Amino acid sequence: MAFPQAEPELEAREGDDALVKDEIHLRSYMEAALGGILAINRGGRIVFVNGHTEQMFGYSRSELLGENLAVLIPERFRENYASAFRPYFAAPNVQLLGMEMGLIALRKNGEEFPVEVGLSFVEGQAGPIALGFVTDVTDRRRIRNDLSRMNTELEHFAQVVSQDLQEPLRVITGYLDLIHRRYRGTMNVEAEEFLDVVAKGASRMKERIENLFNFSRIAAVVPSFHVVRSELILQTAMDDLKAMIGEKSAEVTWDPLPEIVAHASLLAQVFQNLIANGIKFNDQSIPRVHISATDHGSEWVFSVQDDGIGIEARHFDRIFQMFERLNSSELYPGYGVGLAISRKIVERHKGRIWFESKSGEGSTFYFSIPRQDNFNQVR
Ligand code: ADP
Repeated sequence: MAFPQAEPELEAREGDDALVKDEIHLRSYMEAALGGILAINRGGRIVFVNGHTEQMFGYSRSELLGENLAVLIPERFRENYASAFRPYFAAPNVQLLGMEMGLIALRKNGEEFPVEVGLSFVEGQAGPIALGFVTDVTDRRRIRNDLSRMNTELEHFAQVVSQDLQEPLRVITGYLDLIHRRYRGTMNVEAEEFLDVVAKGASRMKERIENLFNFSRIAAVVPSFHVVRSELILQTAMDDLKAMIGEKSAEVTWDPLPEIVAHASLLAQVFQNLIANGIKFNDQSIPRVHISATDHGSEWVFSVQDDGIGIEARHFDRIFQMFERLNSSELYPGYGVGLAISRKIVERHKGRIWFESKSGEGSTFYFSIPRQDNFNQVR
């Protein structure tokens, strides 16, 4: 057996009424708890289980008490778990296990299931005790998997639809173009006006479909993350923004930026979208945008700050949705996809994107990218 040998059972000291009362209270709290609770002594023996643990693992209390914890762990993981468990008593702390990768537990009937375990530590009368708060995360895992499968299907659907729609639309715009070239000047004014409206509608539709296609394609990109200087990524975005910066006489500045692990061309799109928005939604004679990055230990947080028109707090949730816009397209042209795409890209890097803003006082968009050393763990 990989776990250490058992120690004598925990015994309450006789005659110590207060302690006994405390223990009775504690036990009834644990009994009422919604999740499984079990206590393990230094020897790896189970010294307490609540009713939920019995139900979860399919053992009765009497079968579990005094047993080695190993009975609740599939054979192939026992050595791993044991070597993680042993040092726990040397340096006990409160921690949550299984959040990301998931721990696997074993029921009496041989069934395996994913769990999350919160570990805590108490000094018992017969030595230190590890308290495990066990949650069966089968349903949560299933829902998460279903959601991610549905998202993938939706993205696939969006990709197929946008691809399929492009072809008939090409025919429509092609023929509209032909009518224009062949019959312009021979039709009456009203017919020409109608045709113009149709042509404008078709070109808006074309842009939308292309945007939808680009959005869904991000999900399909095979991730290839490399160590890159984020300043180079920003530079790529700046090259594409040259015309806009010139037109609006904008000033874009930045602090030294770190080396990160990223998908360079995808992340360039994020910089480009955020900077372009900072310039576009800006009525200053010289729109100013500043980019910087802060080291937050496990991640870098980039910020793109502008002195533009700002965003009202009540729209905070909306603007990252596809095709959501707050301003009229006459004043501020656009399709409402830049932020949806940016969010998708940042999430593919296991980061988050958010912003702070006050109407009329500019906005700062933030996005985080996990640091290199954390990257493999979080991906
Ligand atoms: P688009 O720029 O094409 O409209 P986005 O998805 O990039 O689409 O942005 C969605 C909406 O969020 C914009 O239409 C605008 O109303 C608001 N927005 C985005 N960035 C800013 C900004 N820096 N300042 C003010 N409003 C912004």
